[in-house]
Amino acid sequence: MMIKDARFITSAARSSQYPPENLPEVAFAGRSNVGKSSLINTLVNRKRLVKTSRTPGRTQLINFFLINESIMLVDLPGYGYAKVPEAVRRKWRPMIETYLTNRTVLKTVVLLLDIRRDVGDREHLFIDWLALHHLPVILVLTKADKLSKAVGNRRLHKIRLKINNPETPIFDFSAKTGKGREAIWQAIEAFI
Ligand code: GDP
Repeated sequence: MMIKDARFITSAARSSQYPPENLPEVAFAGRSNVGKSSLINTLVNRKRLVKTSRTPGRTQLINFFLINESIMLVDLPGYGYAKVPEAVRRKWRPMIETYLTNRTVLKTVVLLLDIRRDVGDREHLFIDWLALHHLPVILVLTKADKLSKAVGNRRLHKIRLKINNPETPIFDFSAKTGKGREAIWQAIEAFI
């Protein structure tokens, strides 16, 4: 994917704050610190389009980024970080669910998982929930550079077996080396 232009459009908590539904959207979801900002920045070839936050859980709104005037990348707030106050956490779920269930231009959800972690109950529930709402998933295994090639491939294989859905594309990815970037773009483009 050639990136000619990438810019932040807006942050939203409520649907009234979303931009108009003119363009196909791709949403990114994952637990805080999984590498979501780094993935989006790598996809769009920008160092700090999404501020890589060293304080996990700081991005508590839905952020919209316009790419090449033709695709909207949507950064959903990270979930599951213990240090986030309960009151904040309680608002997340409806905020994310409202977006995912009402957005007619949403084409696919990129779900991020650290390649070193097993697919947890939370991720399984989320994947089932997305299927129920007919939202295709792309699974991205982040921080692949933290493992050797052999161990990384074993993890990829194991997670693929666990997900057990041939329609779900799964990629290993590294923001450090750029591994997986092109393949992830191709999967995204196939859905839009
Ligand atoms: P977010 O909270 O999901 O947006 O995660 P960030 O993108 O801010 O990354 C969280 C931490 O993981 C940061 O310290 C990043 O530098 C690091 N990180 C993210 N992606 C990678 C990766 O592919 N490889 C390595 N080694 N570290 C990464």
